[in-house]
Amino acid sequence: MKDQKIYIIGAGLSGLVAALELEKSGFSPIILESTDKVGGRMKTDQVDGFLLDHGFQVLLTSYPEVKKYLNLPALNLKTFDPGAVIFDEKDSYIISDPLRNPLKVVGMAFSRVGTFLDKVKMFTLTQELKKKSIEDIFNEPSLPTLQYLKNYGFSDQIISNFFKPFFRGIFLEKHLNTSSRMFEYVFKMFSIGHAAIPEKGMQEIPNMLRQQLGTTQIYFNTPVEKIEGNLISLKNGETLEADRILICTQPDKVMPQMQGQFSNPKQVINLYFSLQKSFMARPMLGLIPGEGHLINNLVFMDDVSSAYSSSDRSLLSVSVLETELDEKELIKKVQEELEHISGIKSDFFKFLKSYYIRYALPTIDDLKASIPITECKITDHVFLGGDYLLNGSINAALTSGRLVAESVVLSYTPTH
Ligand SMILES: Cc1cc2nc3c(=O)[nH]c(=O)nc-3n(C[C@H](O)[C@H](O)[C@H](O)COP(=O)(O)OP(=O)(O)OC[C@H]3O[C@@H](n4cnc5c(N)ncnc54)[C@H](O)[C@@H]3O)c2cc1C
Repeated sequence: MKDQKIYIIGAGLSGLVAALELEKSGFSPIILESTDKVGGRMKTDQVDGFLLDHGFQVLLTSYPEVKKYLNLPALNLKTFDPGAVIFDEKDSYIISDPLRNPLKVVGMAFSRVGTFLDKVKMFTLTQELKKKSIEDIFNEPSLPTLQYLKNYGFSDQIISNFFKPFFRGIFLEKHLNTSSRMFEYVFKMFSIGHAAIPEKGMQEIPNMLRQQLGTTQIYFNTPVEKIEGNLISLKNGETLEADRILICTQPDKVMPQMQGQFSNPKQVINLYFSLQKSFMARPMLGLIPGEGHLINNLVFMDDVSSAYSSSDRSLLSVSVLETELDEKELIKKVQEELEHISGIKSDFFKFLKSYYIRYALPTIDDLKASIPITECKITDHVFLGGDYLLNGSINAALTSGRLVAESVVLSYTPTH
């Protein structure tokens, strides 16, 4: 097995897990990665004493694959308080645990986001989803989430005050057109686990996968240009001959015949500011309901993990879903919105850095929890991995990495 030339394209979560699984079967793969770090869409920079994740994202501790590949205690996870701080036109209030214990949310607070009937329906939905398996969720007919919520009988009030701002920040699209399967799945994961970040940034997750690798080699700064048959053409002009190729990124860029097969991905802009002191002072997500504003969600990262700021200032992460504004205008408008919700003068929010993430989540019509491993194989030499095969999540990326490796191992068994 050792002499087999197995190349994995991409050192994101799926590529790293694929390498781990191949090693377990005695292979020593080589990962070709275009950037200088592992992690793909999950990376963290260190800037001026702050830890800046590339886009606000969280690990849901209930993801089943997470327990297989990550040593959660070693990540020293810092959890968010469930619920959200809602900043509405008048003031701010907390809705404490709507996805886990809706009946426990104080009546007064709940009445600001929805009706008493919404509260009961929320409770019913939590109970239903706790019992429903992930497989069953992904076998359900798919509806746009907004339609699903209306069919379930939720009022327009709770849809616009809570569901829209909360799930827009997860689906990274404004209209909740994402499949109801993803809604049920994410809702279930929130209701049985916690949203968390590693103490020292999301990059710790791929770093932990990398540390588990033994014989795998990683070639950084090695972008792949094209794959033809069993040949890999690198951007630097070199050609590599492979026994097996695992493409652990959306394949259209390296396989021209796949172009046009994928919908435009979801995008997001993540802006970081520092402020003398957090105005939320709790490890909670902040949401701004309604339309016509730029900020969808915000969080003071050092309220969740103090290691995100080693300076004496707080680190604010703001997510913006869509805008035509250039960066300068965007920063100014976001600072004005921050002044509006906090009462703190806009110039006090010191801009640190922005991340324009053009490929944040794949847009997938038929979301899945898993696929048969035979579907990962597209030719005798080429195999596919990556979240875009299933659904846009950490769990899906880990699952697809495992599946594509199993598919490669199967291709070496005598009957294949
Ligand atoms: C802003 C944002 C928020 C998110 N929020 C959440 C969340 O809260 N919870 C959650 O579960 N998930 C979230 N996700 C999704 C999660 O991060 C992804 O599902 C996961 O990281 C995808 O891993 P992957 O291995 O499939 O792909 P990627 O991470 O995209 O890895 C692909 C790798 O391939 C490399 N590559 C690409 N092309 C080439 C080439 N030609 N040659 C060589 N290398 C190449 C890339 O550099 C990259 O390293 C979020 C993602 C983003 C961006």
